[in-house]
Amino acid sequence: MTNRSIGLWCSRPPYGARHRAALVVILVTLAATGCAPEPVSPNIVMFDLDTLRADHLGAYGYPAPTSPRLDALASRGILMRYNYAQAGWTPPSQTSLMTSVYPTVHKVRSQGQMLDPSIPMLAEILRENGYATAGHSQLMGDSFARGFDEYVWRKGEWMDGPIDPDMPAAMQSMRDWATEQTKPFFLFFHSFQVHVPYAPLPEYAARFIGDYDGPLLDRILNRDLLAEINSGQLEVTPEDVAYLIAMCNAELAYVDEQIGQFLDWLDSSGLGENTIVVLVSDHGDEFGEHGALGRHGTLYNEVIRTPVIMAGPGIPEGRVFDQMSRNIDVAPTLLSLAGVPVPESFQGASLRPIWDGTETEGREVFSELAKAQVLIRGRYKFVLKGRHLFDLQEDPTEQNAVRRGAHRDKIREMETRIEALMMELNERAEYTEGSVFLSDEEMRQLRALGYVR
Ligand SMILES: [Zn+2]
Repeated sequence: MTNRSIGLWCSRPPYGARHRAALVVILVTLAATGCAPEPVSPNIVMFDLDTLRADHLGAYGYPAPTSPRLDALASRGILMRYNYAQAGWTPPSQTSLMTSVYPTVHKVRSQGQMLDPSIPMLAEILRENGYATAGHSQLMGDSFARGFDEYVWRKGEWMDGPIDPDMPAAMQSMRDWATEQTKPFFLFFHSFQVHVPYAPLPEYAARFIGDYDGPLLDRILNRDLLAEINSGQLEVTPEDVAYLIAMCNAELAYVDEQIGQFLDWLDSSGLGENTIVVLVSDHGDEFGEHGALGRHGTLYNEVIRTPVIMAGPGIPEGRVFDQMSRNIDVAPTLLSLAGVPVPESFQGASLRPIWDGTETEGREVFSELAKAQVLIRGRYKFVLKGRHLFDLQEDPTEQNAVRRGAHRDKIREMETRIEALMMELNERAEYTEGSVFLSDEEMRQLRALGYVR
């Protein structure tokens, strides 16, 4: 195994007069250590559960038993309680997660849009720094495969019927692949399981269904069900809504169990000790807070508040942090833990200063969609369009914007800041390319899913 700082210095110490002092220190250190042993880079396993609301995990306070295994992971690592995604739907948000770059700058706004090759992705950076990389993902192949030695696009027909039927097979392939590696590895798993339609396996549905016996029982697999409800075409009762949410929870319980089995294997194989495990998501889902069910693509908190749980070497144990964080901070944190330098393109920052107590202020959160932008600072959330200000402390579900008269100064301050930030992002965006490329196969898939007409 290689380590990028100490390993290189052993074989190639810095030279030149200005490095002399450093060289002396290194030579003394090497004489004492004999240039060995090299520190071992940690493996990284990332579980990316598309459409997972942070607040539906037990570790985030959800009352139903949706996530005992992920809760256990949090209890031996860190949990960022107020973490936010940089966009409200998949392509821009997943790209931000993997690049640590805001959507305005990376320009991936829709399905099939390719990322500027000059912006490095997490897997690519790790591979260049000695990692073996593999992805088992339902994210579209060409767009997200960059940097993976092996990328399995688990396409599936996930809008009809069971969403991720080959999840156990993917987990098995991941175990097989990890076993074979001689280098540190980055293993990425992504699933649309908790995305609509809510189609849990019957044994998981049974755990959450309660005594519901209503009309949606026979329609849960119908891909138009939520559209009919959201348009008002189909009227639903509170019991029907509770049933839909319960079915989403049942799916989460299934994924949780699958992840738990993988973590058990990691420990029993002996790899667990040197492996960082991360849970992330690209956005949440709306469950009636703002008039729709199973909808995302907005910037309300039920959509942009996503989980970040991490455990493993270099990570504090059993700590919950209330400082705000962002999905763009995940990749720099992982690189920092792996001892890999962060590229200049990154716009997020490692979370480690928050963990070690040197950074006590929460970070500023900016999230965006093509025509909407929000800024969250402390207790306030500002929506640029309409200049609405929400006090998240008084009104955590953003039901009523505060009265303008009483908050004139705060509104002006937030507006000035969001405009400055957007100007900065737009300036940076002048140096990146936005391009669209879709293969015939990808177009066929997107049409089948209803994303492209
Ligand atoms: Zn998504």
